[in-house]
Amino acid sequence: MESISIIGGGIAGLALAACLDESRFDVTVYEKRPGLPVVGTVLAMWPSAQRALETVGILEDVRRCSPAVRSGALRNAAGAPWISIDGADAVAVSRVDLLRLLDAAVPASVRRITRRVDTVTSGPDLVVGADGVHSAVRRDLWGVRTGARLTPYLAVRGVVPVPVNPDHVGEYWGRGDLFGIGPIATGTLWFASYRSEIGPTGINVASTLEEVRQRFSEHGPAIRQVLEGATPELSLAQRIWTTPLLRSYVRGNTVLIGDAAHAMTPNLGRGACESLVDAVTLAGLLNTRPRAEALRTYDRSRRLRTQGIRLASSAMGRVALAETAQPLRDRLLAQAGRRTARTAVGTGR
Ligand SMILES: Cc1cc2nc3c(=O)[nH]c(=O)nc-3n(C[C@H](O)[C@H](O)[C@H](O)COP(=O)(O)OP(=O)(O)OC[C@H]3O[C@@H](n4cnc5c(N)ncnc54)[C@H](O)[C@@H]3O)c2cc1C
Repeated sequence: MESISIIGGGIAGLALAACLDESRFDVTVYEKRPGLPVVGTVLAMWPSAQRALETVGILEDVRRCSPAVRSGALRNAAGAPWISIDGADAVAVSRVDLLRLLDAAVPASVRRITRRVDTVTSGPDLVVGADGVHSAVRRDLWGVRTGARLTPYLAVRGVVPVPVNPDHVGEYWGRGDLFGIGPIATGTLWFASYRSEIGPTGINVASTLEEVRQRFSEHGPAIRQVLEGATPELSLAQRIWTTPLLRSYVRGNTVLIGDAAHAMTPNLGRGACESLVDAVTLAGLLNTRPRAEALRTYDRSRRLRTQGIRLASSAMGRVALAETAQPLRDRLLAQAGRRTARTAVGTGR
């Protein structure tokens, strides 16, 4: 049996542990958090992630947790729609449900150790860094220069326990800020992002929520209505961090997956999706090929793709959170919306 230590039992680490061949590998997962989280936001699972969830064997369970409302609109700050978003292909799942289902899919033969790992030891045949954007594995083996990068943006999100109004679903882009309203099984999910000096550590959620109410007080009524129902207990606030560009996800017998390898801004909603794809790709290769070849192939097939998405996500963030270019962006989006509407009428759709 080859021994594998997975550092981090989040989305990527658990998906990997669930897919490794039990008859070939002796697997240990080190996770610093005792128990599963009880508060979390919603993650959109795009088709590639759905295929990964199918490989893990939990796609149908995830679908059952997904809310029925899927479509929405990209809107201006006042709420007027520019472009409709058809979310028919996406499945939305709360992070809490996803982690619970992934955790249940991990075989009993996998050893679980609740401990924070700060340095990588040389014992196991393979070490997998699945310990997120602030990865200790990356810092230890790739060097302190690969530490997480702080963006100037704050991400605040929460749940309001009332059913979502389907006419309000979507993302609202203002001058230097964005606000999102979406469905979640327990009510309405909201999120907000803008440039902020708050944090990066010790963020007070109650005062941040007040700042969000203030900032969005001139925006459309749907936003104000959602924020009136928001409470600190059902809200989370954090600064957004990203991982710098890495030349390889593999160093000797250590490999990075998920946010440890490629944490990105949340603007394309792809971080968790790509973490799942990393995990099932790596498991599939390790299960069927010699280790060195499996690691080489994993690096080749995942690095360019995930770094591309990371860059695209930052670019999308710059457009969504545009400040001086906001009037031009709004005019272009309004024009694109009118054109799409005319095409739809012309084709009878
Ligand atoms: C506001 C926001 C919205 C997002 N929305 C979406 C979305 O809609 N769709 C999407 O696909 N993605 C989204 N993402 C991205 C997504 O959350 C991440 O990409 C995903 O969580 C990465 O999974 P991971 O397992 O690699 O890392 P994590 O989820 O960070 O898990 C890492 C795990 O390792 C543990 N750990 C950390 N350090 C150590 C250590 N030293 N020792 C032991 N254990 C350790 C942690 O406790 C944690 O459990 C969003 C992110 C943000 C911030």
